[in-house]
Amino acid sequence: MQSWWELGEWSGQRGSELALYEITCPFCEERGNFKVAHHAEKKKPNGRKVLNFDTLECGNCRGYVMCLWSASHDLHALRVLPWPLKYEKHPEHWPASVGRFWLQAKRSISAENWDAAAVMTRSAMQAALRDKGAKGANLKQEIEDLAGQGLLPPIMKEWANALRELANDSAHPTAAQPATNSRDAQDILSYLDFLLEYLYDLPKQIAEYRARDGGKTGV
Ligand SMILES: [Zn+2]
Repeated sequence: MQSWWELGEWSGQRGSELALYEITCPFCEERGNFKVAHHAEKKKPNGRKVLNFDTLECGNCRGYVMCLWSASHDLHALRVLPWPLKYEKHPEHWPASVGRFWLQAKRSISAENWDAAAVMTRSAMQAALRDKGAKGANLKQEIEDLAGQGLLPPIMKEWANALRELANDSAHPTAAQPATNSRDAQDILSYLDFLLEYLYDLPKQIAEYRARDGGKTGV
């Protein structure tokens, strides 16, 4: 999105009205229990597009969020601040096993369970690499294999080699194994986020781009 006036123009949720039932409270985590406490709007100069600025009040905990939203035809999109820091679901176009481990990795990071976060991150990574047909005895070899096939760029291989935590195997711990530190856990989770974007999100975006306007975009 290059301009706020594009909000709700090309992507978003169905309907031209704000779907309050879709919003989750960042404070008490109750979903769809908001009412509009204050409404303001701004119309685009020389245009019909309207940006709505709503203050929403949670019916459960009386917390407030600010919701910026805008509609076009039968579509609307919104940005809510603050948003829930807890992850509820994984993107639907990812394989279920990848998403399940990724979700648990994110939740473990939020709860500061660094060992658990590292284990779940490595599990998600392994599920994704195997889904793409990677071969190897460990994660670094599997990443190297995909890079060798041209499915991952050299920079992803280089980054993987720099990550200490990737070489660990806390699924099969030894008595002397040190605890995972917070930065290492966050580092491999950042790597996983990029990997999943590269393996699943980008191809989906390209397919959507090609399908746009009945497939007339590009060749
Ligand atoms: Zn609430």
